[in-house]
This record gives sequence, C-alpha cells and structure tokens, in this order.
Amino acid sequence: MSRESACLTCGACCAFYRVSFYWGEATGAPGGIVPSELTENFHPHLLCMQGTNQAKPRCVALEGEIGQQVGCRIYENRPSPCREFVAGDEGENAYCNKARANYGLAPLIPIKEVA
Ligand code: SF4
Ligand code: SF4
Repeated sequence: MSRESACLTCGACCAFYRVSFYWGEATGAPGGIVPSELTENFHPHLLCMQGTNQAKPRCVALEGEIGQQVGCRIYENRPSPCREFVAGDEGENAYCNKARANYGLAPLIPIKEVA
C-alpha cells in the first residue's frame, strides 16, 4: 500500500497476502522500525504482520473498509514488503490486481500505458 494512487480506496493487498519480513526490521532489533507488538513469529528468521498469516488475512495495522477508505496506522514504519508493493496504476504488479479482484475491485492499469 502507498499513500498515493488508488491505495487509499483499496487496501486489498493488506487483507490478502501474508506480510513477512526479516526480523531485524522490527523494533525488537537495533535500528528496527516496525512495531514488534504488531508482529508475530513466522519462521526462525522471519516475522509477519499480525493477522496476515491466517486463512482470511487482514493486517492488524489496516484501518478502514476495504474498497472504500483505508489507511495504514504504521505507514511511516511499515515493513519492506509494503514499501516495495507497487500499486497497479504506478507500475507492473499483477499481485495488486489479484488482491483487488478478490474484493471485486477493478484492475488498475499503469498510468504510463493510459497516457
Ligand atoms: S491492492 Fe494495489 S491498489 Fe490496493 S492497496 Fe494494495 S497496492 Fe494499493
Ligand atoms: S503494515 Fe500497513 S501497508 Fe503493510 S500490510 Fe499492514 S496495513 Fe498494509
């Protein structure tokens, strides 16, 4: 999720994928920024955002209603998978549209292709 583009009225990826990342990104490690209290152990070297490692995922940090209005309450401190996940109107990312489709949201097309 980003703060630009369609993400503010979407949030689908935050409630579709497991969000896992190296444990050193969390505040329990020196220099970590992702709040450890919102993470859980996933693998000896990985954490995941709470709520994303379950049959019907929804990240604990996701606020709002998917497809309406959403926000990430740890946006400035979100983990690397969230920073690297490009919205479908910002670049090629089939995983964005796969998550959107799961919630009945229309696919996004990179803006450069529309122009
Ligand atoms: S699924 Fe795509 S548009 Fe929706 S929040 Fe995630 S990156 Fe943004
Ligand atoms: S940390 Fe924020 S951007 Fe990442 S999955 Fe959770 S709500 Fe989405």
